[in-house]
Amino acid sequence: MDKNRSMHSHAEHGNERHCYDSIIIGAGIAGAATAYALRQKGQTVLVLDKKGIAFGGSGAAGAFVSPKIGKGSPLQTLTNEAFSFAKDFYLSVCPQFFHQTGVIRLPKDEEDAKKFSDYEAFNQNKYENYSKAQLHSLGIKSEFESFYFPEAGDCDAVEVCELLLKEIEVIEYDVADVIQKDELWYIGEHKAQNLILATGYESDLADLRYMGIRSTWGTRGDFTSSLSLNVSMHQSMSVGANVGGIIKLGATHEKEVKEIVSCKEKQALELKEKASSLIETSDLALQKVYCGMRAGSKDYFPLLGRVIDVPFMLENYPAIVRGAKPEMKYVDHLFVCNGLGGRGFVFAPLMAKMLAEFIVNDTEIDKRINSDRLFLRWCRKL
Ligand SMILES: Cc1cc2nc3c(=O)[nH]c(=O)nc-3n(C[C@H](O)[C@H](O)[C@H](O)COP(=O)(O)OP(=O)(O)OC[C@H]3O[C@@H](n4cnc5c(N)ncnc54)[C@H](O)[C@@H]3O)c2cc1C
Repeated sequence: MDKNRSMHSHAEHGNERHCYDSIIIGAGIAGAATAYALRQKGQTVLVLDKKGIAFGGSGAAGAFVSPKIGKGSPLQTLTNEAFSFAKDFYLSVCPQFFHQTGVIRLPKDEEDAKKFSDYEAFNQNKYENYSKAQLHSLGIKSEFESFYFPEAGDCDAVEVCELLLKEIEVIEYDVADVIQKDELWYIGEHKAQNLILATGYESDLADLRYMGIRSTWGTRGDFTSSLSLNVSMHQSMSVGANVGGIIKLGATHEKEVKEIVSCKEKQALELKEKASSLIETSDLALQKVYCGMRAGSKDYFPLLGRVIDVPFMLENYPAIVRGAKPEMKYVDHLFVCNGLGGRGFVFAPLMAKMLAEFIVNDTEIDKRINSDRLFLRWCRKL
């Protein structure tokens, strides 16, 4: 691999090393959205990724952007705020890569269907009830009344990441080490004031152990089809609307896979088998299999903000492991945007906006997503 291939270059270079306001490591949806938000705020930004744009989990995503249903948990509320922001963001920034087909949320079984009436009060986003007859007329085999979210849809994952990075310098670069000296970050020949880690499930460039980033492998398949299906749906899996002759089926959730493995056709075909309980799948032919790693947090909320100086805290405040609550010391100008789990395309636009506002305007980070929340708990378990 050419380790230093510039994918597009808009920054000024002289003989002097260019000093950026921010370097972001990771060109998935987290890094791409953060780069976009920082540039909107006038920053100069460099993005480094060892494989290029959207070759991590983001490139594998079906990238459905839909609300979360439930009984109003804090995670549901945050997800739905993020959904509302994300669909407006994609509609304004990249409408050509956001297919607002609407998404139907189908109960899994009779027991699940009964819960839907309790969920109704907590549907914060626009929705309608779809009867069994309405579902059948759309070619959906469900026997239960369902929610239809007209504003939901799905993104072309790779194209969205590429578009967000269009005006930004992106270099294919496998970062092995980051060095901070005289208030600047140095990565090889590159330097910047701020460093933002958007590295997904790989989190060894700084001590992020307290964030407990964990990985879930996933496979999805794209199938060619002439089926007339104008709406997407979620049940225990997602079935995309037919967009340009392609129906996306996704995705598997495999916790035991810890490292990147090759994509398995068998898994995509199993998704087709599963989808046959929802739609007519007889003409679906596998076109391509995608797979990748999602990076989630222990409490399923995103991880955003500054990075705590773990060695300093443990050394200087040994009582922290017994419940002391000293003032935090952070690694200067080091930030993280991670833990987007299975909803990276839902969360990233809002998280990126919040992180950019924090970095540039010093606006406090929402406590629900601030990764500090996990530190003291982690210390007490040491
Ligand atoms: C099969 C599947 C289906 C999914 N479906 C959906 C969906 O329908 N809707 C939705 O919203 N989300 C979905 N997701 C989840 C979504 O893809 C993730 O939330 C998203 O990828 C997280 O983005 P990220 O930028 O944090 O991570 P990634 O996309 O994994 O990006 C991290 C990047 O960091 C780079 N990197 C890491 N370490 C280094 C280093 N040392 N040097 C240089 N570069 C480095 C990697 O190469 C990678 O490109 C799905 C995921 C999968 C796998």
